[in-house]
Amino acid sequence: MKKIPYGRQNITEEDIQAVVDILKSDFLTQGPIIAEFESAFSSYIGCKYAVAVSNGTAALHLCALALDIKSGDKVITTPITFAATANCVRYAGGDVVFADIDPNTYLLDIKEVEKKLKSVPKGTYKGIIPVDFAGRAVNLEAFRKLADEYGCWIIEDSCHAPGGFFIDSMDAKHNCGNGQYAELAIFSFHPVKHIAAGEGGMITTNDENLYHRLRNLRTHGIQQNPNLKQFNHGAWYYEMQELGYNYRLTDFQAALAISQLKRAKEGIKKRINIASVYEKAFAGKSFIKKQVGLVEGHAYHLYVVEVENRNGLYDHLRNYNIFPQIHYIPVHLMPYYRQFGWKEGDFPIAESYYNNCLSIPIFPTLTEEDQKFVIEKVFEFFC
Ligand SMILES: *Cc1c(COP(=O)(O)O)cnc(C)c1O
Repeated sequence: MKKIPYGRQNITEEDIQAVVDILKSDFLTQGPIIAEFESAFSSYIGCKYAVAVSNGTAALHLCALALDIKSGDKVITTPITFAATANCVRYAGGDVVFADIDPNTYLLDIKEVEKKLKSVPKGTYKGIIPVDFAGRAVNLEAFRKLADEYGCWIIEDSCHAPGGFFIDSMDAKHNCGNGQYAELAIFSFHPVKHIAAGEGGMITTNDENLYHRLRNLRTHGIQQNPNLKQFNHGAWYYEMQELGYNYRLTDFQAALAISQLKRAKEGIKKRINIASVYEKAFAGKSFIKKQVGLVEGHAYHLYVVEVENRNGLYDHLRNYNIFPQIHYIPVHLMPYYRQFGWKEGDFPIAESYYNNCLSIPIFPTLTEEDQKFVIEKVFEFFC
């Protein structure tokens, strides 16, 4: 029987050729195609600067360093995300503070964030990391207002939402990661995400200083700027100015990503179509709860539903070679985070969501027939 995963990459002959071309070229890493990818990606998103890195987690780590998170700094994020969103704060020695999600959107609840900010002296919290969960864009205009009031920066975790957008109060469209409202945004090119590069990540920003800092941090904190030349060194001279990493993307990954990026818009259209078929099929069905409202700008990385007897449905679908997934086990309940005192009951909405949630198949090459089969098997379980 054919396997139907919750998400998967789509690799075309052109993608393969693009990688092969790079393998035959002079550069496997640090060649000109990295800048080409950064420029193509920043035009797609509509931001000023983009810095390609080895994966989304590295992107988060560099953001944490570029924003100077230090030991004891408190940063607020959502428990319904991939652990890496929170972990970047820990990499830099900061403290992660979770806040509950909105039961309608499953996104970080701004009212819960505000409660946290209000309850302590200004300056206690340094930043907020909202996540465009499942591909649904966070209203960053509202978060910016709040962040400004309390002197916080924002990192937008847009791993689920390249090509997603929200409409602000001036009726302007803002692509996720466009740098208008958040200092920094990050993306991942893991194969389950919209753009597959094997591994890969991107940081976007409109801030020139952060951009230069991130570029240094990506390559060991080393600069080769001739203006830095001290003493009587020659053309080989470089300077390590701060502690950085090797978080570079390879050139063949960038080639694959560029080739994939050309189909990104088409991919979102297909995802929206698939989502609307689910929306129609599940409309008015009391056994299924979904993100409320089919909002414009949803990038549909995931199609998440809440059901009673989620475990039963999960097993039922797997019996038919349909492989749904759970996004996510709340991060505050991970054994690592429990050591800081987080426990069951801290975030009732996130925890109840987790008990009922299921991500059912959505990806551009999911066929009509296969989606029908998924819907049929969901109904079979409940009816
Ligand atoms: C995938 C993902 C990451 C991490 O990206 P990697 O490229 O796998 O390191 C971070 N945050 C979210 C929300 C993700 O989905």
